[in-house]
Amino acid sequence: MPEHLSLYIHVPFCKRKCPYCDFFSVTDLSVVPAYVDGVCKEIRLWADLAGVWSRMPVHTVYFGGGTPSLLSLDQMRQILDTVQHHFCLAAGPEITVEVNPGTVDDAFLAGLRHLGINRLSIGAQSFDPQKLSYLSRIHTRDQVFDTLAGAARAGFANLGLDLIYGLPNETPDVWQKDLEAALGCRPVHLSCYMLTIEPGTPFFDRYENSSLFPCDRDRRTDFFVQTAEVLESYGYIHYEVSNFALGKEHQSVHNSWYWERGGYLGMGPSAHSFFPLNPGGPSGRQSGPVRSWNPADIHAWLNHLAAGCLPGSGYEVLTPVQERMEKVMLGLRTKTGIPAKMPGPDTHALMVRLADEGLGVFFYPPKTYPGSQRFRLTRSGLICLDSIVEAFVWKMM
Ligand code: SF4
Repeated sequence: MPEHLSLYIHVPFCKRKCPYCDFFSVTDLSVVPAYVDGVCKEIRLWADLAGVWSRMPVHTVYFGGGTPSLLSLDQMRQILDTVQHHFCLAAGPEITVEVNPGTVDDAFLAGLRHLGINRLSIGAQSFDPQKLSYLSRIHTRDQVFDTLAGAARAGFANLGLDLIYGLPNETPDVWQKDLEAALGCRPVHLSCYMLTIEPGTPFFDRYENSSLFPCDRDRRTDFFVQTAEVLESYGYIHYEVSNFALGKEHQSVHNSWYWERGGYLGMGPSAHSFFPLNPGGPSGRQSGPVRSWNPADIHAWLNHLAAGCLPGSGYEVLTPVQERMEKVMLGLRTKTGIPAKMPGPDTHALMVRLADEGLGVFFYPPKTYPGSQRFRLTRSGLICLDSIVEAFVWKMM
């Protein structure tokens, strides 16, 4: 059995919806008190019902959203107290809160630190006023700097910054200035995401009616290479396709746990949970890993809880083939890659076949890592991650 558990708490509130975002959140803040009571109830229910999982040391807690920094300090304390009361925290857990500039002040940041939060992920997205306006962000460039300075004053050393690139009219110069502004603040972690046009968002509607033209493949490649070259030249480790850290100790433990397919419980509307080993029911018969998810609807989620039930709206048991595919998809995103030996088809033989077919430039051959017994993608491979994974998965079937 795995040794640790992670908790994800989805805080589904935003001041305003950003037109590119497909995460579940609502702007009706009158539901916040009911949500806080609900999420505490869900934590208690999971602790009662998750059996062996609920007794594992929790090594990461992640408040994501939405905009968790819209909760008050008292509400954050209520949730954290419930976690601590019903789960066993590992020594030195990583506790992260996503924070949006324009929603916090110094007193709030100091309060978070006082509560034991030790990592902030700051949703800056950009320092460029035109990009911020295009993305309909609620904050200004100055508020990003203020948030970073306030977090440092509050004693947060473990600070991450999220940035978005690849807007329709963005130039490499604009992106370079964004990167340089971020580097000037020297955050220990940077997440740089390519803008994607997600179905169901206002940006997707604009794309469908031909009033928004996303970056083409060549420009996406150029932005990706620019990002990796600039950040690596400043000492950041490109440890996942979109993530960079100033040293291994600053890599996100929580997100790395996802990519390693560790077990986690998700609380809040739309949150997912994952059990990599299913200990089985009363018969004790094991089945494949299980993934479950909550409804992406705050009232449906609250109704389940009011009835005293865990608010899951669906689950799937992964087949061995799905499990292998998932290991490849998640593993190849990271610098760690995938093991040369996995249950099922011979990974090494598959890689050799892909190399024979001319795809060798996309991954490091095993001889680069004698004894490491792992494969990982080169930068060229990361650029076309989806196609490589698809080719690999086809060969595994
Ligand atoms: S990007 Fe963040 S702030 Fe904007 S709608 Fe999505 S969750 Fe809310």
